[in-house]
Amino acid sequence: MGPDAGPLPVVAIVGRPNVGKSTLVNRIIGRREAVVEDVPGVTRDRVTYEASWRGRRFTLVDTGGWDPDATGMGLRIAEQAQVAAELADVVVFVVDATVGVTDADEAVGTVLRRSGKPVILAANKVDNQRLELEVAALWSLGLGEPHPVSALHGRASGDLLDVVLDALPEAPPERFGVERGPRRVALVGKPNVGKSSLLNKLVGEERVLVDPMAGTTRDPVDELVELGGRTWRFVDTAGIRRRERELKGADFYAGMRTKAALERSEVAVVLIDASQPLTEQDLRIMSMVIDSGRAMVVAFNKWDLLDEDRRHMLEREIDRQMVRTPWALRVNISAKTGRNVDKLVPAIERALDSWSTRVPTARLNAFMAELVAATPPPVRGGKQPKILFATQADVEPPRFVLFTSGFLEETYRRYVERRIREEFGFAGSPIMVSMRIRERRGAAPAKRR
Ligand code: GDP
Ligand code: GDP
Repeated sequence: MGPDAGPLPVVAIVGRPNVGKSTLVNRIIGRREAVVEDVPGVTRDRVTYEASWRGRRFTLVDTGGWDPDATGMGLRIAEQAQVAAELADVVVFVVDATVGVTDADEAVGTVLRRSGKPVILAANKVDNQRLELEVAALWSLGLGEPHPVSALHGRASGDLLDVVLDALPEAPPERFGVERGPRRVALVGKPNVGKSSLLNKLVGEERVLVDPMAGTTRDPVDELVELGGRTWRFVDTAGIRRRERELKGADFYAGMRTKAALERSEVAVVLIDASQPLTEQDLRIMSMVIDSGRAMVVAFNKWDLLDEDRRHMLEREIDRQMVRTPWALRVNISAKTGRNVDKLVPAIERALDSWSTRVPTARLNAFMAELVAATPPPVRGGKQPKILFATQADVEPPRFVLFTSGFLEETYRRYVERRIREEFGFAGSPIMVSMRIRERRGAAPAKRR
Protein backbone atom coordinates (compact mmCIF):
# COMPACT_ATOMS: atom_id res chain seq x y z
CA MET A 1 0.00 0.00 0.00
CA GLY A 2 1.62 3.22 -1.16
CA PRO A 3 1.17 6.56 0.54
CA ASP A 4 -1.38 7.49 -2.13
CA ALA A 5 -3.72 4.70 -1.16
CA GLY A 6 -4.56 6.17 2.23
CA PRO A 7 -7.84 7.88 2.86
CA LEU A 8 -7.91 11.57 2.00
CA PRO A 9 -9.49 14.08 4.34
CA VAL A 10 -13.01 15.02 3.31
CA VAL A 11 -14.23 18.59 2.84
CA ALA A 12 -17.99 19.02 2.36
CA ILE A 13 -19.57 22.11 0.81
CA VAL A 14 -23.04 22.81 2.20
CA GLY A 15 -25.57 25.60 1.87
CA ARG A 16 -29.01 26.25 0.48
CA PRO A 17 -29.58 26.31 -3.30
CA ASN A 18 -28.24 29.23 -5.34
CA VAL A 19 -25.68 30.50 -2.86
CA GLY A 20 -22.88 29.44 -5.23
CA LYS A 21 -21.78 26.00 -4.02
CA SER A 22 -21.24 24.56 -7.48
CA THR A 23 -19.45 27.68 -8.59
CA LEU A 24 -17.15 27.41 -5.60
CA VAL A 25 -16.50 23.71 -6.25
CA ASN A 26 -15.65 24.44 -9.87
CA ARG A 27 -13.39 27.24 -8.78
CA ILE A 28 -11.54 24.94 -6.36
CA ILE A 29 -11.12 21.97 -8.67
CA GLY A 30 -10.74 23.98 -11.88
CA ARG A 31 -8.06 26.28 -10.72
CA ARG A 32 -6.01 23.56 -9.15
CA GLU A 33 -6.47 21.21 -12.09
CA ALA A 34 -7.69 18.55 -9.75
CA VAL A 35 -8.47 15.06 -10.87
CA VAL A 36 -12.20 14.82 -11.35
CA GLU A 37 -13.64 11.40 -10.67
CA ASP A 38 -15.78 10.77 -13.68
CA VAL A 39 -18.15 7.85 -13.49
CA PRO A 40 -19.82 7.07 -16.79
CA GLY A 41 -23.39 5.87 -16.88
CA VAL A 42 -24.25 7.13 -13.43
CA THR A 43 -27.89 7.75 -12.78
CA ARG A 44 -27.20 10.47 -10.23
CA ASP A 45 -25.05 13.50 -10.07
CA ARG A 46 -21.44 13.26 -9.21
CA VAL A 47 -20.84 14.42 -5.68
CA THR A 48 -17.20 13.89 -4.86
CA TYR A 49 -14.05 15.24 -6.42
CA GLU A 50 -10.41 14.93 -5.65
CA ALA A 51 -8.78 18.29 -5.17
CA SER A 52 -5.57 19.75 -3.86
CA TRP A 53 -4.31 23.06 -2.58
CA ARG A 54 -0.70 23.88 -1.79
CA GLY A 55 0.22 20.23 -2.30
CA ARG A 56 -2.35 18.91 0.17
CA ARG A 57 -4.89 16.53 -1.37
CA PHE A 58 -8.43 16.17 -0.15
CA THR A 59 -11.82 14.90 -1.26
CA LEU A 60 -14.41 17.54 -1.96
CA VAL A 61 -18.06 16.62 -1.46
CA ASP A 62 -20.53 18.85 -3.27
CA THR A 63 -23.90 18.53 -1.56
CA GLY A 64 -25.37 20.51 -4.45
CA GLY A 65 -25.16 17.17 -6.24
CA TRP A 66 -27.97 15.96 -3.99
CA ASP A 67 -30.41 18.52 -5.26
CA PRO A 68 -33.85 16.94 -4.73
CA ASP A 69 -35.25 17.91 -8.14
CA ALA A 70 -32.20 16.83 -10.08
CA THR A 71 -31.88 13.40 -8.53
CA GLY A 72 -35.22 12.55 -6.99
CA MET A 73 -33.52 12.12 -3.64
CA GLY A 74 -35.43 14.32 -1.27
CA LEU A 75 -32.87 15.37 1.23
CA ARG A 76 -33.75 18.64 2.79
CA ILE A 77 -31.02 21.20 3.27
CA ALA A 78 -30.58 20.78 7.00
CA GLU A 79 -30.55 17.01 6.58
CA GLN A 80 -27.94 17.36 3.87
CA ALA A 81 -25.87 19.41 6.25
CA GLN A 82 -26.25 16.71 8.89
CA VAL A 83 -25.10 13.99 6.53
CA ALA A 84 -22.27 16.15 5.26
CA ALA A 85 -21.10 16.88 8.78
CA GLU A 86 -21.12 13.17 9.61
CA LEU A 87 -18.94 12.15 6.73
CA ALA A 88 -16.68 15.18 6.44
CA ASP A 89 -13.60 16.23 8.34
CA VAL A 90 -14.29 19.88 7.61
CA VAL A 91 -17.51 21.56 6.49
CA VAL A 92 -17.54 24.69 4.34
CA PHE A 93 -20.86 26.44 4.87
CA VAL A 94 -21.65 28.79 1.98
CA VAL A 95 -23.96 31.74 2.58
CA ASP A 96 -24.98 34.38 0.03
CA ALA A 97 -23.75 37.61 1.59
CA THR A 98 -25.88 39.71 -0.74
CA VAL A 99 -29.02 38.07 0.64
CA GLY A 100 -28.03 37.74 4.29
CA VAL A 101 -29.05 35.06 6.78
CA THR A 102 -32.26 33.21 5.89
CA ASP A 103 -34.24 30.76 8.03
CA ALA A 104 -32.73 27.92 6.05
CA ASP A 105 -29.23 29.24 6.74
CA GLU A 106 -30.05 29.39 10.42
CA ALA A 107 -31.32 25.80 10.40
CA VAL A 108 -28.11 24.65 8.73
CA GLY A 109 -26.07 26.71 11.17
CA THR A 110 -27.75 24.98 14.13
CA VAL A 111 -27.04 21.53 12.72
CA LEU A 112 -23.43 22.40 12.05
CA ARG A 113 -22.81 23.97 15.46
CA ARG A 114 -24.08 20.77 17.07
CA SER A 115 -21.98 18.52 14.84
CA GLY A 116 -18.74 19.40 16.59
CA LYS A 117 -16.96 19.39 13.23
CA PRO A 118 -14.80 22.33 12.15
CA VAL A 119 -16.98 24.68 10.10
CA ILE A 120 -15.64 27.34 7.76
CA LEU A 121 -18.22 30.01 7.04
CA ALA A 122 -17.88 31.29 3.47
CA ALA A 123 -19.61 34.60 2.71
CA ASN A 124 -20.06 34.25 -1.02
CA LYS A 125 -20.84 36.71 -3.81
CA VAL A 126 -18.60 39.33 -2.23
CA ASP A 127 -17.48 40.59 -5.62
CA ASN A 128 -16.22 43.89 -4.24
CA GLN A 129 -15.35 45.57 -1.00
CA ARG A 130 -18.65 47.40 -0.66
CA LEU A 131 -20.26 44.41 1.07
CA GLU A 132 -18.26 44.70 4.29
CA LEU A 133 -21.32 45.26 6.51
CA GLU A 134 -23.24 42.39 4.93
CA VAL A 135 -20.30 40.09 5.63
CA ALA A 136 -20.05 41.23 9.24
CA ALA A 137 -23.76 40.48 9.71
CA LEU A 138 -23.01 36.78 9.21
CA TRP A 139 -21.30 36.61 12.59
CA SER A 140 -24.87 36.18 13.87
CA LEU A 141 -24.81 32.54 12.72
CA GLY A 142 -22.57 31.75 15.66
CA LEU A 143 -20.03 29.94 13.49
CA GLY A 144 -17.16 32.31 13.94
CA GLU A 145 -15.58 34.58 11.39
CA PRO A 146 -17.25 34.81 7.99
CA HIS A 147 -14.70 34.57 5.18
CA PRO A 148 -15.63 36.78 2.23
CA VAL A 149 -15.17 35.19 -1.18
CA SER A 150 -16.34 35.56 -4.73
CA ALA A 151 -16.67 32.10 -6.19
CA LEU A 152 -17.56 33.58 -9.53
CA HIS A 153 -14.60 35.89 -9.89
CA GLY A 154 -12.20 33.97 -7.69
CA ARG A 155 -11.70 36.82 -5.29
CA ALA A 156 -10.15 35.59 -2.00
CA SER A 157 -10.85 31.95 -2.85
CA GLY A 158 -7.19 31.14 -2.14
CA ASP A 159 -7.51 32.68 1.31
CA LEU A 160 -10.58 30.56 1.93
CA LEU A 161 -8.70 27.40 0.95
CA ASP A 162 -5.87 28.34 3.29
CA VAL A 163 -8.35 28.43 6.14
CA VAL A 164 -9.87 25.10 5.06
CA LEU A 165 -6.43 23.52 4.93
CA ASP A 166 -5.62 24.76 8.42
CA ALA A 167 -8.76 23.06 9.72
CA LEU A 168 -7.97 19.68 8.14
CA PRO A 169 -6.90 16.99 10.58
CA GLU A 170 -3.31 15.85 10.46
CA ALA A 171 -3.13 12.48 8.74
CA PRO A 172 -2.68 9.80 11.39
CA PRO A 173 0.71 8.05 11.09
CA GLU A 174 -0.74 4.69 10.09
CA ARG A 175 -1.96 6.28 6.88
CA PHE A 176 1.62 6.24 5.64
CA GLY A 177 2.80 2.81 4.55
CA VAL A 178 6.43 3.47 5.43
CA GLU A 179 5.69 4.04 9.10
CA ARG A 180 3.69 0.93 9.61
CA GLY A 181 6.27 -1.79 10.35
CA PRO A 182 5.83 -5.53 9.76
CA ARG A 183 2.25 -6.74 9.37
CA ARG A 184 1.05 -8.61 12.43
CA VAL A 185 -0.15 -12.21 12.14
CA ALA A 186 -1.86 -14.29 14.82
CA LEU A 187 -1.63 -18.03 14.49
CA VAL A 188 -4.67 -19.43 16.28
CA GLY A 189 -6.47 -22.74 16.63
CA LYS A 190 -7.40 -25.24 19.29
CA PRO A 191 -4.67 -27.36 20.91
CA ASN A 192 -3.00 -30.03 18.77
CA VAL A 193 -3.97 -28.69 15.36
CA GLY A 194 -0.30 -28.05 14.55
CA LYS A 195 0.37 -24.41 15.44
CA SER A 196 3.84 -24.95 16.82
CA SER A 197 4.66 -27.37 14.01
CA LEU A 198 3.68 -24.76 11.46
CA LEU A 199 5.56 -22.03 13.29
CA ASN A 200 8.67 -24.22 13.35
CA LYS A 201 8.26 -24.96 9.68
CA LEU A 202 7.95 -21.29 8.82
CA VAL A 203 10.69 -20.16 11.15
CA GLY A 204 12.99 -23.10 10.60
CA GLU A 205 13.37 -22.62 6.90
CA GLU A 206 13.74 -18.90 7.08
CA ARG A 207 15.89 -16.44 8.91
CA VAL A 208 14.58 -15.71 12.39
CA LEU A 209 15.07 -12.23 13.73
CA VAL A 210 14.98 -11.42 17.37
CA ASP A 211 12.35 -8.84 18.09
CA PRO A 212 14.13 -5.83 19.56
CA MET A 213 10.84 -4.69 21.13
CA ALA A 214 10.49 -7.73 23.33
CA GLY A 215 13.59 -7.62 25.49
CA THR A 216 12.32 -9.96 28.17
CA THR A 217 11.07 -13.51 28.22
CA ARG A 218 7.69 -12.45 29.56
CA ASP A 219 4.57 -12.81 27.40
CA PRO A 220 3.76 -11.83 24.81
CA VAL A 221 6.75 -12.64 22.68
CA ASP A 222 6.58 -11.95 18.99
CA GLU A 223 8.76 -13.49 16.34
CA LEU A 224 9.86 -11.60 13.27
CA VAL A 225 9.97 -13.98 10.34
CA GLU A 226 11.03 -13.33 6.77
CA LEU A 227 8.64 -14.95 4.34
CA GLY A 228 8.04 -14.28 0.68
CA GLY A 229 10.47 -11.38 0.66
CA ARG A 230 9.03 -9.45 3.56
CA THR A 231 9.19 -9.46 7.31
CA TRP A 232 6.16 -10.54 9.32
CA ARG A 233 5.48 -10.25 12.99
CA PHE A 234 3.94 -13.43 14.39
CA VAL A 235 2.35 -12.26 17.63
CA ASP A 236 2.44 -14.04 20.95
CA THR A 237 4.41 -17.03 19.74
CA ALA A 238 5.46 -17.83 23.30
CA GLY A 239 1.88 -18.91 23.92
CA ILE A 240 2.10 -21.28 21.00
CA ARG A 241 5.43 -22.70 22.02
CA ARG A 242 4.39 -23.20 25.63
CA ARG A 243 2.08 -26.09 24.73
CA GLU A 244 -0.92 -24.77 26.58
CA ARG A 245 -2.66 -28.13 26.48
CA GLU A 246 -0.35 -29.35 29.22
CA LEU A 247 -1.59 -26.66 31.59
CA LYS A 248 -4.57 -26.89 33.86
CA GLY A 249 -7.66 -25.07 32.62
CA ALA A 250 -6.14 -25.20 29.17
CA ASP A 251 -9.32 -24.25 27.34
CA PHE A 252 -9.81 -21.14 29.36
CA TYR A 253 -6.24 -19.97 28.91
CA ALA A 254 -6.24 -20.93 25.26
CA GLY A 255 -9.30 -18.72 24.82
CA MET A 256 -7.65 -15.82 26.60
CA ARG A 257 -4.49 -16.24 24.62
CA THR A 258 -6.42 -16.30 21.36
CA LYS A 259 -8.26 -13.12 22.30
CA ALA A 260 -5.06 -11.34 23.26
CA ALA A 261 -3.28 -12.46 20.10
CA LEU A 262 -6.18 -11.29 17.94
CA GLU A 263 -6.17 -7.95 19.70
CA ARG A 264 -2.58 -7.37 18.66
CA SER A 265 -2.87 -8.75 15.14
CA GLU A 266 -4.15 -7.55 11.79
CA VAL A 267 -4.74 -10.94 10.23
CA ALA A 268 -5.43 -14.32 11.80
CA VAL A 269 -4.45 -17.69 10.42
CA VAL A 270 -6.91 -20.17 11.90
CA LEU A 271 -5.44 -23.64 11.92
CA ILE A 272 -7.81 -26.59 11.73
CA ASP A 273 -6.96 -30.29 11.93
CA ALA A 274 -8.50 -31.43 8.66
CA SER A 275 -8.06 -35.09 9.54
CA GLN A 276 -10.65 -34.75 12.32
CA PRO A 277 -14.28 -33.61 12.13
CA LEU A 278 -14.78 -29.86 12.61
CA THR A 279 -15.57 -29.17 16.24
CA GLU A 280 -17.44 -26.56 18.24
CA GLN A 281 -14.10 -25.21 19.38
CA ASP A 282 -12.88 -24.69 15.81
CA LEU A 283 -16.05 -22.77 15.04
CA ARG A 284 -15.79 -20.77 18.25
CA ILE A 285 -12.27 -19.66 17.36
CA MET A 286 -13.42 -18.61 13.89
CA SER A 287 -16.22 -16.63 15.50
CA MET A 288 -13.69 -14.91 17.73
CA VAL A 289 -11.75 -13.85 14.65
CA ILE A 290 -14.88 -12.55 12.93
CA ASP A 291 -15.90 -10.62 16.03
CA SER A 292 -12.43 -9.12 16.32
CA GLY A 293 -12.80 -7.63 12.83
CA ARG A 294 -9.48 -9.06 11.69
CA ALA A 295 -8.72 -10.46 8.25
CA MET A 296 -8.84 -14.25 8.19
CA VAL A 297 -7.13 -17.14 6.46
CA VAL A 298 -8.25 -20.67 7.33
CA ALA A 299 -5.52 -23.27 7.02
CA PHE A 300 -6.68 -26.89 6.93
CA ASN A 301 -3.67 -28.69 8.32
CA LYS A 302 -2.53 -32.33 8.37
CA TRP A 303 -3.64 -32.67 4.76
CA ASP A 304 -1.14 -35.56 4.47
CA LEU A 305 -3.47 -37.65 6.65
CA LEU A 306 -6.55 -37.22 4.46
CA ASP A 307 -7.90 -39.94 2.24
CA GLU A 308 -10.60 -39.55 -0.41
CA ASP A 309 -13.45 -40.26 2.03
CA ARG A 310 -12.29 -37.77 4.62
CA ARG A 311 -11.85 -35.10 1.94
CA HIS A 312 -15.48 -35.53 0.90
CA MET A 313 -16.63 -35.44 4.50
CA LEU A 314 -14.64 -32.28 5.14
CA GLU A 315 -16.16 -30.46 2.18
CA ARG A 316 -19.61 -31.29 3.52
CA GLU A 317 -18.69 -30.11 7.02
CA ILE A 318 -17.37 -26.85 5.59
CA ASP A 319 -20.50 -26.27 3.51
CA ARG A 320 -22.69 -26.94 6.52
CA GLN A 321 -20.79 -25.22 9.30
CA MET A 322 -18.87 -22.36 7.79
CA VAL A 323 -21.82 -20.54 6.25
CA ARG A 324 -20.95 -17.38 8.15
CA THR A 325 -17.61 -17.04 6.43
CA PRO A 326 -17.86 -17.85 2.75
CA TRP A 327 -15.33 -15.00 2.30
CA ALA A 328 -12.55 -16.59 4.36
CA LEU A 329 -9.51 -17.53 2.31
CA ARG A 330 -8.70 -21.20 2.51
CA VAL A 331 -5.43 -23.10 2.17
CA ASN A 332 -4.88 -26.84 2.56
CA ILE A 333 -1.50 -27.49 4.10
CA SER A 334 0.68 -29.97 5.88
CA ALA A 335 2.98 -28.52 8.50
CA LYS A 336 4.68 -31.90 8.61
CA THR A 337 5.54 -32.36 4.95
CA GLY A 338 5.57 -28.68 4.07
CA ARG A 339 2.84 -29.16 1.47
CA ASN A 340 1.35 -25.85 0.30
CA VAL A 341 2.92 -23.94 3.17
CA ASP A 342 4.24 -21.49 0.55
CA LYS A 343 0.63 -20.69 -0.37
CA LEU A 344 0.03 -19.26 3.07
CA VAL A 345 1.83 -15.97 2.53
CA PRO A 346 0.01 -14.99 -0.69
CA ALA A 347 -3.29 -15.76 1.07
CA ILE A 348 -2.31 -13.62 4.06
CA GLU A 349 -1.27 -10.77 1.74
CA ARG A 350 -4.51 -10.94 -0.19
CA ALA A 351 -6.59 -10.92 3.00
CA LEU A 352 -4.69 -7.88 4.28
CA ASP A 353 -5.16 -6.07 0.96
CA SER A 354 -8.90 -6.63 1.19
CA TRP A 355 -8.86 -5.51 4.79
CA SER A 356 -7.30 -2.17 3.82
CA THR A 357 -9.31 -1.53 0.66
CA ARG A 358 -11.21 1.71 0.35
CA VAL A 359 -13.90 2.16 -2.28
CA PRO A 360 -14.07 5.77 -3.49
CA THR A 361 -17.34 7.46 -2.53
CA ALA A 362 -18.33 8.30 -6.10
CA ARG A 363 -17.76 4.74 -7.26
CA LEU A 364 -19.68 3.32 -4.32
CA ASN A 365 -22.65 5.63 -4.93
CA ALA A 366 -22.70 4.85 -8.65
CA PHE A 367 -22.77 1.17 -7.75
CA MET A 368 -25.47 1.66 -5.10
CA ALA A 369 -27.65 3.62 -7.55
CA GLU A 370 -27.51 0.70 -9.96
CA LEU A 371 -28.12 -1.84 -7.22
CA VAL A 372 -31.17 0.03 -5.90
CA ALA A 373 -32.55 0.56 -9.40
CA ALA A 374 -32.31 -3.17 -10.11
CA THR A 375 -33.44 -4.35 -6.66
CA PRO A 376 -35.16 -1.68 -4.58
CA PRO A 377 -35.39 -2.13 -0.81
CA PRO A 378 -38.61 -3.89 0.23
CA VAL A 379 -41.52 -1.63 1.17
CA ARG A 380 -42.02 -1.36 4.90
CA GLY A 381 -45.14 0.04 6.54
CA GLY A 382 -46.35 1.24 3.16
CA LYS A 383 -43.19 3.19 2.52
CA GLN A 384 -40.26 2.51 0.28
CA PRO A 385 -37.05 3.32 2.16
CA LYS A 386 -34.52 5.17 0.04
CA ILE A 387 -30.77 4.94 0.17
CA LEU A 388 -29.76 8.59 0.01
CA PHE A 389 -26.03 8.23 0.14
CA ALA A 390 -23.41 5.61 0.87
CA THR A 391 -19.90 5.98 2.11
CA GLN A 392 -17.10 3.73 3.28
CA ALA A 393 -16.52 5.21 6.68
CA ASP A 394 -13.57 3.06 7.66
CA VAL A 395 -10.98 0.49 6.66
CA GLU A 396 -9.32 -2.33 8.62
CA PRO A 397 -11.96 -3.67 8.61
CA PRO A 398 -13.95 -1.99 5.84
CA ARG A 399 -17.12 -0.42 7.21
CA PHE A 400 -19.88 0.93 5.00
CA VAL A 401 -22.60 3.31 6.09
CA LEU A 402 -25.84 3.71 4.19
CA PHE A 403 -27.73 6.93 4.84
CA THR A 404 -31.37 6.01 4.39
CA SER A 405 -34.82 7.54 4.63
CA GLY A 406 -36.18 4.48 6.43
CA PHE A 407 -35.38 1.12 7.97
CA LEU A 408 -33.70 -1.43 5.73
CA GLU A 409 -34.50 -5.04 6.54
CA GLU A 410 -31.65 -7.24 7.72
CA THR A 411 -32.06 -9.43 4.65
CA TYR A 412 -31.68 -6.43 2.36
CA ARG A 413 -28.57 -5.25 4.20
CA ARG A 414 -27.10 -8.74 3.80
CA TYR A 415 -27.98 -8.56 0.13
CA VAL A 416 -26.15 -5.22 -0.14
CA GLU A 417 -23.14 -6.72 1.63
CA ARG A 418 -23.10 -9.67 -0.74
CA ARG A 419 -23.32 -7.41 -3.78
CA ILE A 420 -20.54 -5.15 -2.45
CA ARG A 421 -18.35 -8.24 -2.08
CA GLU A 422 -19.18 -9.39 -5.60
CA GLU A 423 -18.39 -5.96 -7.02
CA PHE A 424 -15.33 -4.94 -5.02
CA GLY A 425 -13.80 -8.19 -3.77
CA PHE A 426 -12.84 -8.18 -0.07
CA ALA A 427 -11.80 -11.84 -0.08
CA GLY A 428 -10.37 -12.72 3.31
CA SER A 429 -11.79 -9.69 5.10
CA PRO A 430 -14.92 -9.16 7.12
CA ILE A 431 -16.92 -6.12 6.04
CA MET A 432 -19.66 -4.29 7.88
CA VAL A 433 -22.69 -2.59 6.40
CA SER A 434 -24.68 -0.39 8.74
CA MET A 435 -27.33 2.23 8.18
CA ARG A 436 -28.18 5.66 9.52
CA ILE A 437 -31.81 6.54 9.25
CA ARG A 438 -32.68 10.17 8.66
CA GLU A 439 -35.55 10.96 10.98
CA ARG A 440 -38.20 13.31 9.66
CA ARG A 441 -37.91 16.38 11.82
CA GLY A 442 -40.88 18.44 12.93
CA ALA A 443 -39.46 21.87 12.29
CA ALA A 444 -38.92 22.06 8.58
CA PRO A 445 -36.54 24.77 7.45
CA ALA A 446 -38.36 27.60 5.69
CA LYS A 447 -38.29 27.67 1.94
CA ARG A 448 -37.46 31.37 1.81
CA ARG A 449 -34.47 32.26 -0.30
P1 GDP B 1 -25.58 26.36 -5.83
O1 GDP B 1 -27.03 26.09 -6.09
O2 GDP B 1 -25.35 26.71 -4.40
O3 GDP B 1 -24.67 25.29 -6.33
O4 GDP B 1 -25.24 27.72 -6.63
P2 GDP B 1 -24.55 27.95 -8.05
O5 GDP B 1 -23.09 27.70 -7.96
O6 GDP B 1 -25.31 27.22 -9.08
O7 GDP B 1 -24.74 29.52 -8.20
C1 GDP B 1 -26.02 30.13 -8.23
C2 GDP B 1 -25.92 31.45 -8.96
O8 GDP B 1 -25.10 32.37 -8.24
C3 GDP B 1 -25.30 31.31 -10.33
O9 GDP B 1 -26.01 32.17 -11.24
C4 GDP B 1 -23.88 31.81 -10.12
O10 GDP B 1 -23.32 32.36 -11.30
C5 GDP B 1 -24.06 32.84 -9.06
N1 GDP B 1 -22.85 33.05 -8.27
C6 GDP B 1 -22.10 32.08 -7.68
N2 GDP B 1 -21.04 32.64 -7.04
C7 GDP B 1 -21.13 33.98 -7.24
C8 GDP B 1 -20.31 35.11 -6.83
O11 GDP B 1 -19.29 34.96 -6.17
N3 GDP B 1 -20.73 36.33 -7.22
C9 GDP B 1 -21.85 36.51 -7.96
N4 GDP B 1 -22.17 37.75 -8.30
N5 GDP B 1 -22.61 35.50 -8.37
C10 GDP B 1 -22.28 34.24 -8.02
P1 GDP C 1 -0.36 -27.21 18.59
O1 GDP C 1 -0.84 -27.69 19.89
O2 GDP C 1 -1.47 -26.58 17.79
O3 GDP C 1 0.83 -26.31 18.64
O4 GDP C 1 0.03 -28.51 17.72
P2 GDP C 1 1.47 -29.17 17.51
O5 GDP C 1 2.23 -28.39 16.50
O6 GDP C 1 2.09 -29.43 18.81
O7 GDP C 1 1.03 -30.51 16.79
C1 GDP C 1 0.25 -31.48 17.45
C2 GDP C 1 0.57 -32.84 16.84
O8 GDP C 1 0.17 -32.87 15.48
C3 GDP C 1 2.04 -33.16 16.84
O9 GDP C 1 2.21 -34.53 17.15
C4 GDP C 1 2.49 -32.88 15.41
O10 GDP C 1 3.59 -33.67 15.02
C5 GDP C 1 1.26 -33.24 14.65
N1 GDP C 1 1.15 -32.51 13.39
C6 GDP C 1 1.21 -31.17 13.22
N2 GDP C 1 1.07 -30.84 11.90
C7 GDP C 1 0.91 -32.01 11.24
C8 GDP C 1 0.71 -32.34 9.86
O11 GDP C 1 0.62 -31.51 8.95
N3 GDP C 1 0.57 -33.66 9.55
C9 GDP C 1 0.63 -34.62 10.51
N4 GDP C 1 0.49 -35.87 10.13
N5 GDP C 1 0.82 -34.34 11.82
C10 GDP C 1 0.96 -33.06 12.18
